Amino acid sequence: MLRKTHALFAAAVAFFIGLTPSQIIASSFFGIISDMDRAFGFRHRGFTHSLLFALLSFLISSALFPNLAIPVLVGITTHVFADMLNPKGVELFYPSKKNYRIAKFRFNSKAGNGIIIAMSAALVILKLKGYSFNVEFLKNLAYAIHKYAQSFGLK
Ligand SMILES: [Zn+2]
Repeated sequence: MLRKTHALFAAAVAFFIGLTPSQIIASSFFGIISDMDRAFGFRHRGFTHSLLFALLSFLISSALFPNLAIPVLVGITTHVFADMLNPKGVELFYPSKKNYRIAKFRFNSKAGNGIIIAMSAALVILKLKGYSFNVEFLKNLAYAIHKYAQSFGLK
């Protein structure tokens, strides 16, 4: 998917689950970091498009900046989901090199990006109508990890 589609989708999900405005902006940013994989020498749609990367990023951000842990998780998981609509798919269970996909839209296809944009709009409308998804358990988990990390001297 296109970078702006990823950024929009992450922001929409962040809004839907009730994150703060600054966390929504952060989610948008973390929605595009997965594609910096090649800049760091990773295979494209490999490690940075996996559940392992999402989990490690959540743990590390929880330990250091717990208020960013949910935006990090939202950014990465929405990115991976959107890229699973691509023909090549993503290495969801990295280090396994098997690619997983749920559709075959090219990254720049109008249909593929349109689906994600429509999903984003739907989430915003649902939220404005009073629907939401509670991520309190994830926030609590992030702060619990942070507290645990602090006991090892991490600030
Ligand atoms: Zn990607």
